[in-house]
Amino acid sequence: MMPLLDPSLIPVFDEVVARNPGETEFHQAVQEVLESLGPVVAKHPEYADAEVIRRLCEPERQIIFRVPWTDDAGRVNLNRGFRVEFNSALGPYKGGLRFHPSVYLGIVKFLGFEQIFKNALTGLPIGGAKGGSDFDPKGRSDAEVMRFCQSFMTELYRHLGEYTDVPAGDIGVGGREIGYLFGQYKRITNRYESGTLTGKGLSWGGSQVRTEATGYGTVFFVSEALGAAGESLEGRRVVVSGSGNVAIYAIEKAQSLGALVVACSDSDGYVVDDAGIDLDLLKEIKNGHRGRVSDYASRRGGTARYVAGGSIWDVPGEIALPCATQNELDEAGAASLIANGCRMVAEGANMPTTPAAIRALREGGVAFAPGKAVNAGGVATSALEMQQNASRDSWTFEYTEERLAEIMRSIHDRCLETAEEYGSPGDYVVGANIAGFTQVADAMLALGVI
Ligand code: GLU
Repeated sequence: MMPLLDPSLIPVFDEVVARNPGETEFHQAVQEVLESLGPVVAKHPEYADAEVIRRLCEPERQIIFRVPWTDDAGRVNLNRGFRVEFNSALGPYKGGLRFHPSVYLGIVKFLGFEQIFKNALTGLPIGGAKGGSDFDPKGRSDAEVMRFCQSFMTELYRHLGEYTDVPAGDIGVGGREIGYLFGQYKRITNRYESGTLTGKGLSWGGSQVRTEATGYGTVFFVSEALGAAGESLEGRRVVVSGSGNVAIYAIEKAQSLGALVVACSDSDGYVVDDAGIDLDLLKEIKNGHRGRVSDYASRRGGTARYVAGGSIWDVPGEIALPCATQNELDEAGAASLIANGCRMVAEGANMPTTPAAIRALREGGVAFAPGKAVNAGGVATSALEMQQNASRDSWTFEYTEERLAEIMRSIHDRCLETAEEYGSPGDYVVGANIAGFTQVADAMLALGVI
């Protein structure tokens, strides 16, 4: 990664900050991409001539709406809904919905911006978007979540469509929420448009492997990266942060490839289990009861230890997979990973590593692979779901997983080839940013000033 912005990009970044005041996560995501683009602007003056980078940093459309809903006690509640349709040069807007109290416009923009490049890297025809709400599903009944989702979709539906914008899940939005959202979309439009949402249930238009895809894809990427160095996951000690959908299926695939996964976490603390995480127990607690990792430790007994608060990055591991949320791995976490002999960090979550931590890891000789490449398997499998919906077909688990593995292999190889071409061999950050950017930028040039 280039330490500084190319001088020609400083005004571009300043404009982003001025246009989007206070949206620090968005600024961070833009800066991280722009830092890789120095060699691209030098080689391709046509991008600057057509103001491609400035246009890319401005969402095509931003939708903000009121979401009123009634709780089980009959009280009226109010949340804010968002959809940032960032870029549609490569295909319909595509990206998840996040329901979490921290959601505001800056978070949605950072996620939407990342999504543009991630989706380009998949090689599939999908543009970039993200949405969500500051609604907190934690502790809410199914009926409350349903009423919220129905109210959310009552506004959002008019902006969606298989050729327009196709949402999916993210933090706080899983199979249950996608069901309620799809039900309301179908009811309002009187159309069974399967291709309008992805992450659907298997009996009503969903794809095999979509649930597992982000976590599995993360581990496929890691395997490719280790393979490039003649190594494998077999016998490796792995630390995975989070215990949601991405973390659970990263743990599953890592274990099936012979790794020993010794830790996972939630927002309250982390658990260390030197015998290896018992995934059936973790799944039962998380998926069955929406429980906490502290429950895991008390039910597992003996080998497991729960640490309230604290940092999971203090747990020694050769490979660390941050799979929880943005900026969860900071400089102190990086220092601790380095001190404990960590050799690779691959991001299962979106932007989980702070810029200072990335710098520290790289200086400390730790291989670093960014989320927009590593976690692209989720959205790639969403695109496979769209493909199945369009052809009214459904594929087997094995076939779909093989497609996912192939896509991850090709993302990995493309990152390395691009990094090499632009003078930073082995640098996955430069490779992912430049490969994603050039693909979108070339499409934008071809489509004219729009
Ligand atoms: N939210 C996921 C992501 O960060 C998936 C998006 C999708 O499937 O559209 O890529």
